[in-house]
Amino acid sequence: MQVLVLNSGSSSIKYRLFLGDGAEVASGLVERIGEATGRATHRTLAPDGTAEETVEEEPVADHEDGFARIVAALEAAGRADDLDAIGHRVVHGGAEFVAPTPIDDAVIDRIRAQVPLAPLHNPANLTGIEVATRLRPDLPQVAVFDTAFHGTLPPHAYRYAVPAAWEHEHGVRRYGFHGTSHAFVARRAAGFLGRPLEDLKLITLHLGNGASVTAIDGGASVETSMGLSPLEGLVMGTRSGDIDPAVIFHIQRVAGLSPDEVERALNREGGLLGLCGDNDLRTIEARAADGDEQAEIALEVYAHRIRKYLGAYAAVLGGLDAVVFTAGVGENAASVRARICRDLEVLGVEVEPRRNGAAAVGEADEGVVAIQADGSRVAVLVVATDEEREIAEQTRVALAGA
Ligand code: ADP
Repeated sequence: MQVLVLNSGSSSIKYRLFLGDGAEVASGLVERIGEATGRATHRTLAPDGTAEETVEEEPVADHEDGFARIVAALEAAGRADDLDAIGHRVVHGGAEFVAPTPIDDAVIDRIRAQVPLAPLHNPANLTGIEVATRLRPDLPQVAVFDTAFHGTLPPHAYRYAVPAAWEHEHGVRRYGFHGTSHAFVARRAAGFLGRPLEDLKLITLHLGNGASVTAIDGGASVETSMGLSPLEGLVMGTRSGDIDPAVIFHIQRVAGLSPDEVERALNREGGLLGLCGDNDLRTIEARAADGDEQAEIALEVYAHRIRKYLGAYAAVLGGLDAVVFTAGVGENAASVRARICRDLEVLGVEVEPRRNGAAAVGEADEGVVAIQADGSRVAVLVVATDEEREIAEQTRVALAGA
């Protein structure tokens, strides 16, 4: 089954096309949708690994125009007629969607009903779904939710200690995100360790621009750091992660900010950016290496938060078989992994510095490299994540069962 995976954002649409055997044959990005200057990049991949790229620099009126360009590029590559299905990334599925779901009008309405929970993300995902179902009504389409993998969280992990009516009337509880990535790397880790996922206690660290950590027991997510929204938990590129909720009321009062301004600041001006003025880990590492104190402190705050979660999640799991690093920072930043794992023998975690420094996950078989020391009780793995590939797989599973 050939699956086109779409990740529709507010001003961009990313796509990748996978054949039934998992081979990726096309990908691309339409960006700056609705702006004065737009761009569409299309890549076709030959079986021998060679890629051909075309770039169109012209305005893209709206998402419908953007999707039409993707279809045109696939047509030009001789791929449009063989499509079997479209898989859509949807950020928030609320409490309702805990599995990939074939899309029909009723499902679209139910996703729309989740918009108040994810006003920053779901509207754009929904636009992508609406456009694709309108322009390709012949294709079955599936929604794959970032929250779904965390549908197994027990009430003691997902409930906030707030008035119960907030949950019942307004959905105020923890949901968790990055589920597609956590699920994907957990399976890869189990495959690499040669053990059934059902027997493993894992902590998966997805460290990209957004960042989250999940405790996975026997394949099920039992605790995760993001909550009602992707703002809770770890220090991220521009998101604060955990703060005392009183900060919000305090800063509104003393700085005269509106709720929307505070929300924006915590999402866009916090995290590493707030701490040191940069949000790209590479820049921050370079600054720290040059003796920049603010950059050094930012890296320490970032690592300290993760270490707290590692200890907490080892306690939640009551044991630990492997720690898994993934996404842009987790896969590439050896010095950050070292900062996080130093002096963690108490948890049975010991990283071998040379293996850590040399881990090149892009070149590894199955995209997995082990970096623990020989005597380490806990395996420490670097795993290349691939959320779109997982969405394609989940789309196939959902349609096979439909
Ligand atoms: P997203 O969450 O947008 O998918 P990614 O998973 O691509 O993000 O991660 C982006 C982050 O990864 C950026 O902060 C970037 O600095 C970091 N990153 C990417 N490559 C490296 C590298 N070689 N060394 C350190 N950090 C890296």
